Formats: sequence, C-alpha cells, structure tokens
Amino acid sequence: MIEQFLKPASVDEAIRLKSQYKDEAVFMAGGSKLNATPTRTDKKVAISLAGLGLNEIKEQGGQLHIGATVSLQQLIDDPRTPPALREAAGFIYSRNVRNQATLGGEMCARQEEAVLLPVLLAMEARVVFADGQVSELESFLDGVRNSSASLVIGVILPEPDRPCATRKIARSAAGLTVLSAAVALNGEVQRIAIEGVVPRAVRLREVEKKGLAEVPLELAVSEAVAPRDDVRGSVAYKRYIAGVVVADLLADLLADRQQMTKEK
Ligand SMILES: Cc1cc2nc3c(=O)[nH]c(=O)nc-3n(C[C@H](O)[C@H](O)[C@H](O)COP(=O)(O)OP(=O)(O)OC[C@H]3O[C@@H](n4cnc5c(N)ncnc54)[C@H](O)[C@@H]3O)c2cc1C
Repeated sequence: MIEQFLKPASVDEAIRLKSQYKDEAVFMAGGSKLNATPTRTDKKVAISLAGLGLNEIKEQGGQLHIGATVSLQQLIDDPRTPPALREAAGFIYSRNVRNQATLGGEMCARQEEAVLLPVLLAMEARVVFADGQVSELESFLDGVRNSSASLVIGVILPEPDRPCATRKIARSAAGLTVLSAAVALNGEVQRIAIEGVVPRAVRLREVEKKGLAEVPLELAVSEAVAPRDDVRGSVAYKRYIAGVVVADLLADLLADRQQMTKEK
C-alpha cells in the first residue's frame, strides 16, 4: 500500500527520488493502473509525475512531441493529434479513465489490453527517456529498457501526417477487447500493428514485407497472429477477424488516397 506520496517539481528531482528509494518506489502518472484491482501497486512510495511539466504537445521540425503525462482525453481534444491516435484514445470508453490515464502510463503499464499501441507502432513512434535517450517504441516494448527503473518523458511521432487507420473489435464499448489493429502507409510501404491476438502489441513485419492486399493479406495476418482461446472468442474466430480487420483498414486507406488524388 502507498504510504508516501512524493511530488517532485522537476524530472531531475523525480530521478533523484527514484534512486534514493529504488525498488520501494514507483513512478505514478494518472494512477489508473496503480490504484486499480488487480494491478494495484504493493510499493510503499509513489513518485508523482504530475508536477514535471510533461503534459504538453508540441510540433517541432515537422515532428509531434507528446509529453508522457498528456492524458488520453487531452489527446482527443488537441487538434494536432493525428486522427488515428485520437480515435484509438476514444476506444477507452470512459471519459473518467481518459481524464486520468496518460500516454506514458499506457506504454509503460505493460498491460494485456493496450489499444493505443497499434497506432503508435504503425506510426513508428519513438520513446524519449529522462536521460535523453530515444528508443523505437517496439524495442521499448521488447523490454530493452525496464520501465520500472526508467522514466519516460515523452513520445515522438516522426511523421504525424502519415495516413493511418485503426479499429478495435469488442463485444461492446465497455466489454473486453478482442483486438485492436492499425495500418499506416509510408509511401507505398505498409506498417501493420496489432494487439490482443499476440502476447503483446507488435508490428507484423513479415506480413508488411509481402505488400499484400485483400484476401491474401487477410490470410497472411490470420497465420501471423497467435491468439488464445478464451471468453472473448475461439482461436479460429480471432485469426479470422484479425485478417479481416487489417485488410479492411488497408482498403480504407487506399480508398482515401484515391479520393484525394481525384480531388487534386
Ligand atoms: C476502469 C478502467 C478502465 C480501463 N479501460 C481500459 C480500456 O478500455 N482499454 C485500455 O487499453 N486500457 C484501459 N484501462 C487501462 C488504462 O487506460 C491504463 O492503465 C492507463 O493508460 C495507465 O495510465 P496511467 O497514467 O493511469 O498509469 P499509472 O497507473 O500511473 O502507471 C501504470 C504503470 O506505468 C508506469 N509509468 C507510468 N508513467 C510512466 C512514465 N512516464 N515513465 C515510466 N513509468 C511510467 C507506472 O510506474 C506503473 O507501473 C482502464 C483502466 C481502468 C482503471
């Protein structure tokens, strides 16, 4: 149970406190995960990230820099947020949770359901650490950096205007998510990312390389995922729906592109 709630006023102070309390302390962003059953923390010291000034979104040199404590609702409300990322934030059905939960928390919580990660992966987001190092989101999720020790200060979207589309499949808005997926186009090259039907959110790099569309893409995605049979659906259903969703997202992006070319 949390017994001490520390409120550092700078990133340096937060790091100093973490090295002082080490494993006894945890960084707390919105606290939606750390305060909720069954993921409630057993640490005694919480180091709040609320006063670190990491709640801004900035455009710099054509890139979008999003602070780690930007809330999911702030992402929805900011006109600079790419439409697919805004849509993904809206997949979290409760405005109360969106007000509380942060982008940094969404990436660091290592949760089974992480509906924003496919968009961030498809847009090739980079994670910025307090020590100034920058890592591809995918390597961060691979566990190259340990989130309980490293303070994430923000995310960079190198090409915020990259066309990207996302979709979530669930029985209901508040129900368990079967999967969420995102497809982005970097010129002619596809970026495909998925969660829910794989152990953690990933890019489907082998499928991307094949440059497929329609039914061949559906089949390749169905084979590439590794779903489990559970209350959300059977393995066969999950493989099928993963393929259909990804192929549909690509079709939508290509149709939008065709429409824009016609209008020019
Ligand atoms: C009622 C409820 C409903 C939810 N529904 C959904 C849903 O439908 N879909 C979905 O995907 N998620 C859902 N969530 C999960 C929630 O969106 C995520 O848990 C949230 O994004 C975590 O953000 P946070 O800022 O609250 O993290 P916190 O709880 O503060 O932290 C989570 C973890 O990340 C670490 N951390 C946070 N920020 C940083 C940082 N900057 N640097 C290093 N480590 C950090 C913390 O130390 C902790 O280990 C739900 C949660 C609740 C409570």
